[in-house]
Amino acid sequence: MAELIGVIGGSGFYSLLDEPEQRSVETPYGSPSDALTVGALGGRDVAFVPRHGAGHRYPPHRVPYRANLWALRSLGVRQVLAPCAVGGLSHDVAPGDLVVPDQLVDRTSRRVPSYVETGAVHLPFADPYCPGVSQALLAADPGVRAGGAMVVIEGPRFSTRAESQWYAAAGGTLINMTGAPEAALAREQRLCYASLALVTDMDAGAEAGAGVGMEQVVALFRANLERLSGLLRRAVSALPDPAGCSCSTWADGVDLTYPVPGDTP
Ligand SMILES: [Zn+2]
Repeated sequence: MAELIGVIGGSGFYSLLDEPEQRSVETPYGSPSDALTVGALGGRDVAFVPRHGAGHRYPPHRVPYRANLWALRSLGVRQVLAPCAVGGLSHDVAPGDLVVPDQLVDRTSRRVPSYVETGAVHLPFADPYCPGVSQALLAADPGVRAGGAMVVIEGPRFSTRAESQWYAAAGGTLINMTGAPEAALAREQRLCYASLALVTDMDAGAEAGAGVGMEQVVALFRANLERLSGLLRRAVSALPDPAGCSCSTWADGVDLTYPVPGDTP
């Protein structure tokens, strides 16, 4: 099976791929957010899944995260780039910044967090993002900021001012609603995964104003689509060989109790 690079992102990314071809994939976890689009980007073959589906039909707490990762893996994907929109919690970041986070705080509470439904499989997750994919993203644009903890909330509402200040005081740099359980599910599927966060606004507790509005988020994402596209193109062409990465080797010798497509027993 030819190796594909996976991208999970906003629907604006459809237009990036040359010779796009739609693939409908069914999974043991239901349908992914939408049909996957396979095409060429930066000299590599890429499989793209729009995280929220056509017309943004799945809000963050309803995204079929398990089906999305399983579907990518079943097409031959081993490395995933996951652009997302985030709020800033720390004044180290400002709207318009691109950040490759290196830590995650999962504050979601009502999502299916794992493929594990039986048996003793405990994912090593101290460092939630793939070092190789993170490095390729950072090297693709000298303006991208390295590191920071991304707090993931259940949503779909934004934080109160007190919640936001609490997350900031606890050391959070960024806040969003989709980074979990996506990153953990990727690793359970033995996929290399890294996030590329675009800061669209400062979260409620980090500024004195009225707090976040959806229009602000969408406008900033549109304004940065071109920079984001160029960055992804360069990162995809510079990705290292995933063979031997700890994102996959953690499961060597582990009796996984869930299906991992293409896995060699
Ligand atoms: Zn990796």
